[in-house]
Amino acid sequence: MAKQKKNDTMEKIVSLCKRRGFIFPSSEIYGGLISCWDYGPLGSELKRNLKNHWWSEMTIRRRDIEGLDAAILMHPKVWETSGHVELFNDPMVDCKTCKSRFRADKLEESKCPNKPSKSPIEHNCDLTEVKQFNLMFKTFMGPVEDTSNVIYMRPETAQGIYVNFLNVKNSSRQKIPFGIAQIGKAFRNEITPGNFIFRTREFEQMEMQFFIHPSEDDKWFEYWREQRFAFYKGLGINMDKLRWHEHGPDELAHYAKAAYDIEYEYPFGWQELEGVHNRTDFDLGRHMEATKKDMRYFDERFDEKFIPYIIETSAGCDRTLLTILVDAYDEVEIKGEQRVFMRISPKVAPIKAAILPLVKKDGMPEYAEKVYDEISKKFKVFYDVAGAVGRRYARMDEAGTPYCITIDGQTLEDDTMTVRDRDTMEQTRMKTAEIITFLDKQVNG
Ligand code: ATP
Repeated sequence: MAKQKKNDTMEKIVSLCKRRGFIFPSSEIYGGLISCWDYGPLGSELKRNLKNHWWSEMTIRRRDIEGLDAAILMHPKVWETSGHVELFNDPMVDCKTCKSRFRADKLEESKCPNKPSKSPIEHNCDLTEVKQFNLMFKTFMGPVEDTSNVIYMRPETAQGIYVNFLNVKNSSRQKIPFGIAQIGKAFRNEITPGNFIFRTREFEQMEMQFFIHPSEDDKWFEYWREQRFAFYKGLGINMDKLRWHEHGPDELAHYAKAAYDIEYEYPFGWQELEGVHNRTDFDLGRHMEATKKDMRYFDERFDEKFIPYIIETSAGCDRTLLTILVDAYDEVEIKGEQRVFMRISPKVAPIKAAILPLVKKDGMPEYAEKVYDEISKKFKVFYDVAGAVGRRYARMDEAGTPYCITIDGQTLEDDTMTVRDRDTMEQTRMKTAEIITFLDKQVNG
């Protein structure tokens, strides 16, 4: 019963996303492409706001982090050195009956297509032995399609940072400890993608690699764990639905000294949202060995030359966006009617405010258009004149718009408008300049 309700919640969110223009199935008019999704008018604003917010927190507000935007296609040797060609595998099993493929380590979470209410274990599926499957997408560079021209679509953004460590250090003149942040697409040929945008084959990552002296790794690891947890708190995510998961010895990557995941309780269970890892000197050490470029750093504080350790914070952009949507979804019964409120933080909400003339006459639309022109210089706002104001509020509540500004009879007399708060439903009268200051405080903190 509880499981059914949880599935219903995901179905409702997927359907709201389509109806309101957050997220559509990719290539839908051709029947869609499995696990690929397109962000619509509201979704693309939300995603852009999320990336801008992360970028601002992780670079603009920090003197010790530089930004980077590396190419998706990299020298194939990078992926040999990093270990991805040899080891970036997931264990896979096939069902001999229905020919479906499953991740051997996620069998409990998978569903048997012949009996979708059961996992392959519960349904006693006839599974093959475990095989290793490499998750990297391959393509060819140039017109000749042979093995010497194989190139990979990057499965993570981190390698772009490591291979640019010297470039960034030398050009920015940063001193250790410092970080490099990057947002960009990554591709993984996942065996079992699913749960909407939770696990897809094309996704975006928001990663930051922090370079430090090895003796300071524990201190910085703790620091970044705290910072990254606080990031989700700042977005208004329900803290009861967030927890830490420490990687045990059997989960820990061979190069990592410590790894923690921030997990969120999605309708389909607790799952990883972001990883914070102590990657030691493995990455720069490997690239130094392969390229013979000196990645060592001379630190005056320690009077020592060393290969920097790396503390990595690695978040999925699409997965964070899903977290925001799931966490924001709220159903409320008002006067016998079931209403949906998307309680998205003003920091990332796609539309910051709606501008609504109370009626379509008496000069109110003309006044509202002027207010729109003024506020839209700074914020994404939405103008809506059609229908009863209650219905217009309801549409905005579903779109996650935190404020509705209504131009009424009094506006024409004293230039004040009502600003309705989506979550408290309280209304306060303000003039245009006050609204801009108010929005600036709510959106930019
Ligand atoms: P999982 O165990 O879920 O496969 P992972 O441990 O391989 O994830 P990382 O390699 O640490 O994930 O990637 C960092 C982050 O990138 C993840 O925490 C997640 O937010 C995001 N991510 C990874 N794979 C996917 C995917 N297939 N679809 C969407 N986001 C992903």
